[in-house]
Amino acid sequence: MHPIPAILGGPPAFPDGPPPWPPSTDDVRDAVARAMNEGTWGGYHGPHVEELERRLAERYQTPHVLTCSSGTIAVEAALRAVGVGPGDEVVLAAYEYESNFLTVHAIGARPVLVDVSAKNFNLDPARLTGAIGPKTKAILVSHLHGGIVPMDAVSALGVPVVEDCAQCPGAAIGPKPCGSFGTVGTLSFGGSKLLAAGRGGALLFQDERAYRRAKLWLHRGVQAWAALSELQSAVLLPQLERLHADTIQRAAAVLRIAEERVPGLELFENAPRSMPAYYKVGFRFDPIAFGLSRDVFLRAARAEGIAFDAGFAALHLGRSPSRFRAAGPLTEAARAGEMVVKLHHPVLLAGNESVEIVARTLANIYRNASEISAAFPPS
Ligand SMILES: *Cc1c(COP(=O)(O)O)cnc(C)c1O
Repeated sequence: MHPIPAILGGPPAFPDGPPPWPPSTDDVRDAVARAMNEGTWGGYHGPHVEELERRLAERYQTPHVLTCSSGTIAVEAALRAVGVGPGDEVVLAAYEYESNFLTVHAIGARPVLVDVSAKNFNLDPARLTGAIGPKTKAILVSHLHGGIVPMDAVSALGVPVVEDCAQCPGAAIGPKPCGSFGTVGTLSFGGSKLLAAGRGGALLFQDERAYRRAKLWLHRGVQAWAALSELQSAVLLPQLERLHADTIQRAAAVLRIAEERVPGLELFENAPRSMPAYYKVGFRFDPIAFGLSRDVFLRAARAEGIAFDAGFAALHLGRSPSRFRAAGPLTEAARAGEMVVKLHHPVLLAGNESVEIVARTLANIYRNASEISAAFPPS
């Protein structure tokens, strides 16, 4: 006997819903208490910010690091730092975090969209050559939903690269951390992210000139107008300390879920030697193989207390063609917009038992697909 899926009235697998994020851990609580006791917690620049920048520089093997107020500001600062300005072109994937597309516009530059890989719906370096022209000032690469973009193939083109690692702190390709491949790498410390401080971001520079330009842009005279605070830095330090262990635990949890081999729910595929990090776990959802529409699958998973969402909309669809240039067909990006489902990360650290329940519950939704489908016919 299989349990009745929650969407059909059975008991949810997780009656309390997905685990909260960020969790209240002793190391973070201690860091807040220490910042209070030391009296540094009201500041914008002080020992915690300095230590965080030093630790990030070590971990990311980068000569220069700047913290800032968000991942979005980090991407904007990075693009400006590599010289992007009005009228220039920035190449990025057509399946991307929308605010990156809008950031290119905010600078007055023009997004040039390339297609994504069929394997993991992340930027496909093979599509870049045709996209680069005389106005290209930068390539903006994000590693999304546990996918890893093969960075050597991107860097080989000789164009400045901004590597957005908001979704993958802890990821690596071979021995090198993601974030250290681009001319500038960026991180986000938003409240839902793997390194969470409520808000915040960082820039990782391989290039001295880019570092100086970003530093200048992030200051109005003596005012650091988009700074990370001492308190934010204080809560990030212990999280950075355990990032490696957490990355490994999350990857093991994802492997367990993928081992269930639920038809129609296929984990993104990465190049060998890459170590993904999971902020969202991206799957390619095939409604025919699974037996449910994507929308009904998402409702069924959420009814169980499992935090699944649809992926992004492809950037070129439903948007005026005057807002971008398409470099070639964007077929896979359109498919990504229709097929991606993503699991939010907190449950990956919730322990073996919870991960086991996630895997079995997804399989159980699949086994009951025809009953669910009959109860929720397409409108
Ligand atoms: C979250 C995110 C950002 C923006 O970070 P904020 O700190 O929320 O501004 C940028 N890029 C990607 C890929 C993200 O997931």
